[in-house]
Amino acid sequence: MAQGILKDTMANAMLVKDLAEVAKDTALLHGVQIRVHESPNSSEVVTYAPITLFPSPVPKSAFYQALAVQVHYNTLVDKISQDADFLQKALASTITVDNFTARLFKIHQQVLEEGKAQSIVLGLNRSDYMLDQKNEGCPTLKQIEINTFAASFAGLTSHTPHVHRLLLFLIKSNHHPDILVHGVGYGPVFSGHSERFTEDLSFCCRAIVMFLVEENQINIFDQRCIENELWKRNISTKRKRFRDVSKTGSLDPDRKLFVDGQEVAVVYFRNGYMPQNYQSEQDWQARLLMERSLAVKCPDIGTHLAGTKKVQQVLSQPGVLEKFFPEQPQVVEQIRSTFAGLYTLDMGPEGDKTIEMALRTPGLFVLKPQREGGGNNLYGAELQQVLQEVKGSEERMAYILMDKIHPTPVQNILLKRDAPLKISTCLCELGVFGTYVRKGREMVLNKCAGHLLRTKSSEHADGGVAAGVAVLDNPLLL
Ligand code: ADP
Ligand code: MG
Ligand code: MG
Repeated sequence: MAQGILKDTMANAMLVKDLAEVAKDTALLHGVQIRVHESPNSSEVVTYAPITLFPSPVPKSAFYQALAVQVHYNTLVDKISQDADFLQKALASTITVDNFTARLFKIHQQVLEEGKAQSIVLGLNRSDYMLDQKNEGCPTLKQIEINTFAASFAGLTSHTPHVHRLLLFLIKSNHHPDILVHGVGYGPVFSGHSERFTEDLSFCCRAIVMFLVEENQINIFDQRCIENELWKRNISTKRKRFRDVSKTGSLDPDRKLFVDGQEVAVVYFRNGYMPQNYQSEQDWQARLLMERSLAVKCPDIGTHLAGTKKVQQVLSQPGVLEKFFPEQPQVVEQIRSTFAGLYTLDMGPEGDKTIEMALRTPGLFVLKPQREGGGNNLYGAELQQVLQEVKGSEERMAYILMDKIHPTPVQNILLKRDAPLKISTCLCELGVFGTYVRKGREMVLNKCAGHLLRTKSSEHADGGVAAGVAVLDNPLLL
């Protein structure tokens, strides 16, 4: 049962309209903004980032559980990124059929063969969860995936609480008896922390932090939040695309990276996670150049590969986590408790078993290729159809299978440009940001750095904010 927000929608239509106007203006006022699709590379016309009208309820215990496990996920991702043997074994089947992962893997090998120039690693990741309602009354935290590359919205989400705090204040101060925000009053609305997030980029020196950005920069304000935090600390940033690096990038004999004549201390990747981000061979060469360089990469290629869905599936196999945390059974337990069922589709009896199970009950699973950015996963009839097509060939190894998570639906109103104002039955996904810096073998910083709540209408199986499906939200802790 979805939890109610408004007692009577019709009677409240005017009120909702008023509140929606306030919410949009407050979002704009506090920089919760995006560019418009009509002009993705200009800020002459901007709009509010899609957001819910109200915060959505999230159980306190699961929220704090997700925050607490984050430092261990940081450690895990970092350990995997350094374990060439593990990555090779984990991805061996995938890279025989998935060209994109294979190219990334090749860069990883080239870097290792030459020897890494830089011993400092900067990690900024986001582990995403849904709360599975399998145990009635006690939803369990289940990881959807971890994004180790271009994890977005740390910037905007540090400003979204302004919107919902004001809305809750208006409801309270105007004594609107018809509005029950999830049946409760005005609990704490926590915020993400772009300040904490960006502190970790600020260790660098005179050279610049280069933001490697997309062709179309709809979500520029999210990145500007981080840039602003760096500028406050007298750190220069430059925004560059792959083509800028391929045209003007070079390495000196010490493998220092220069782009447009300036030395780059840190490459912060916000682009390069999808095949279509690489429009030419030169773009791939630019990626290789950056990876080979002395610049600190955020993330480096090993960390990028550690975030693949295939690695996620391999980690769920018995004994694998134990190898990474040999003397820390509690850490293993803490991480493992967030795993959903994950199944291999490799050739052999285990993969055959997965296929048989998925074809029998497709509604219970999600079929995932090694892709990012939303909208790539397969469900239900489509899942069945694709599995039928690939089940006899190696093509199936490009995918993994995962248990479908069923979060408790909540009611909310999604504010999206040109979309009607209506109450929707929604599903929430909680993201937790992790940051770390390692120098050689020493972890010099390892933190949980805030959170993100994204909410989508339950009619969509897949898709994030960038895909136009989910919107920003805040957890109302219950
Ligand atoms: P991407 O890297 O493209 O974001 P995700 O694994 O996060 O891939 O999947 C995209 C979206 O699909 C998620 O935001 C979530 O809404 C939905 N989804 C993914 N995995 C599951 C799952 N196991 N159960 C339910 N929904 C899922
Ligand atoms: Mg992802
Ligand atoms: Mg995702």
